[in-house]
Amino acid sequence: MEGAQRRRLSVIGSHLRPVTVTPTWLNMSSCSDSEKQETDCIFCKIVGGEAPALKLYEDDECLCFLDNNPVSPGHCLIIPRSHYPSLVATPPSVVAAMCSKVPYISKAVMKATDSDSFNLLVNNGVDAGQVIFHTHIHIIPRRARDCLWASESLKRHPLKLDQEALHLVNSIRQHLSFVDGFEDNKDHGTTLIGS
Ligand code: 5GP
Ligand code: ZN
Repeated sequence: MEGAQRRRLSVIGSHLRPVTVTPTWLNMSSCSDSEKQETDCIFCKIVGGEAPALKLYEDDECLCFLDNNPVSPGHCLIIPRSHYPSLVATPPSVVAAMCSKVPYISKAVMKATDSDSFNLLVNNGVDAGQVIFHTHIHIIPRRARDCLWASESLKRHPLKLDQEALHLVNSIRQHLSFVDGFEDNKDHGTTLIGS
């Protein structure tokens, strides 16, 4: 049979075969062996394709999908494929991969939601309101008069330049020098400006 005829036959055949179409937004992705997964983690299940999500973006390292209980339309989450319980438990290279997607994704989300502002939010730890212990970054589109929070509306206390503040600065700087780095943090010494 001629090549052209064979191709035509296979095209006709493909029309006769039943096709299962999976909407891309319900895309079930599979995880590779190198991805660390937790069996009870809903975000790991989304990564592994065992739970559905309205996916916006994915690559080798990260996934972005709509929050299923959004604060505003377009509220989405960027997560790494591997399981890390919080941002501080996440290797800097993974944090960098997540953060590097923020401009790209947020621009698209703002265009789609007709907003020109957004909040970037990380709840790290129970006291900060973290409820899903698979590290993630929230992108929350904002609009004028959306009745969400405004930075100025949060209760604040002017910083006093007193002994307490100096003690705090010294303590943090001391801890910065002793914080155990991740493997991929080596060779990146901390430089204190204006010491
Ligand atoms: P956290 O307080 O841990 O920073 O926020 C977790 C976020 O994940 C919440 O905004 C919550 O609505 C969202 N979330 C929890 N479970 C699911 C889920 O199964 N699917 C999706 N798409 N979002 C979820
Ligand atoms: Zn997980």
